[in-house]
Formats: sequence, C-alpha cells, structure tokens
Amino acid sequence: MRLRNIKGARERIANEEKAMETPKEYKGKWGQVFGNNNSIHIEIGMGKGAFITQLANENPDINFIGIEKYSSVLIRAIEKLPLVKNNNLFLIRMDAEEIEDIFEHNEVERIYLNFSDPWPKERHAKRRLTSKEFLARYHQFLTKEGQVIFKTDNRTLFDFTLGQIAIAGWKVESVTFDLHNSKYLEGNVMTEYESKFVALGNPINRVVIYQ
Ligand code: SAM
Repeated sequence: MRLRNIKGARERIANEEKAMETPKEYKGKWGQVFGNNNSIHIEIGMGKGAFITQLANENPDINFIGIEKYSSVLIRAIEKLPLVKNNNLFLIRMDAEEIEDIFEHNEVERIYLNFSDPWPKERHAKRRLTSKEFLARYHQFLTKEGQVIFKTDNRTLFDFTLGQIAIAGWKVESVTFDLHNSKYLEGNVMTEYESKFVALGNPINRVVIYQ
C-alpha cells in the first residue's frame, strides 16, 4: 500500500511522542520505553493500523509495536492513537530489512504479518516478509516460545511461505486455507485488507509458526 505523498508526514511523526523513526537506540531497552516488562507483540507492515490499535485496546497487559515503511501510511495509524485507551502502543516508521537493529535477542514474543506485499517477481523474493531471509532476521530477536502469525488472501505467497518455513526449519502450530470457515476464527481480529477481501469472498490463509 502506498498512499500519495502527504506533505509534512515526516514532521508529524517527529512531533508524535508515540511514533518514531528506526529507533536503534532502544534495542534491548523496550521494557524501559514501555515502563514495564510485559510481553512485546509487533506487527510488521501494519498499514493504517486498525489491527494493532484494536489489539492494544483489548490487551492492556501486552505491549504492542506497529511497524510501517511509509510515513504517508503511518500517519493514518497515528490518527488512530487517541482511540487507544492503554499506554501500550508505539508506532515505528522503518523498513523491516533493518529490524534486527532495533530488537535484542529474546525481546519480542510475537510477530504479526498481515497481508504482506507479495513481491511477485522471483528476483524480489528476498523482500517478501515471509522469506527465509526474513525468518532468519526474526530468529535474532524472537523468544524461544515466540510465534509468527501470517495471514494473506494470496495463495501463491502463502504456498511460498509454507516452503520457506520448511527450508528454515521452523515448525507449524496451525495452518488453514480458509480462516473464516475454520475452527481458528474465534478471536480473530480483522485488518483493513482482510475486511476488503472477506467482503469479496476471498478465502483467507493463516499459518502460526514457531522455532
Ligand atoms: N497489514 C495491513 C492490513 O492487513 O490491512 C496492510 C497490508 S498492505 C498490503 C502491506 C503494508 O506493508 C503496506 O502498508 C506496506 O507499506 C508495508 N510494508 C511492506 N514492506 C515493508 C517493509 N519492508 N517494512 C515495513 N513495512 C512494509
């Protein structure tokens, strides 16, 4: 998702105390940033932030961080911050390719990847957020019991992901090719893209993995 360039977006991020740009200085210090040692769950490629803000509201005892590459998109998530009644959400503008520079070993308990960009050209496979290269990055900072939860309507990207999971030696806790007609639907929080695709009748794939 790329919205048109919004004038002043970078300044708005700089002026928002709950938003930051590639905060490498907080690596290993997120407990201090949140002011507690609660588990940290992150969403990479959060888009306009509906999913992560709902999770932050519903789970006051978990710390959430939403990561988005484009400032023009991230400011849409910033606009939702007043709706979050708990002090448990930060937003980061950065390219996830640098993600291991901002989290320390064992610092993150869960990673959500929702409707990640497919990067259909084979030469761009390494940019897919579920590639073995990204799984190796997640391995750097995910706790031993930590999970990656991936949802997509894109079956080609999903099949690629299942292959990468096997190559990287991760384990599958659960998998479904039609989340909304499965036993896993209870407790599912919809993302902006998910709402659109479900309305179109597209099946949603979901896999939960651990190391
Ligand atoms: N997760 C949201 C949803 O389900 O509604 C948005 C999905 S949208 C298709 C993918 C988002 O991931 C876009 O906002 C895009 O800018 C972001 N994104 C893609 N690659 C990224 C990267 N390397 N680092 C951070 N964000 C990225």
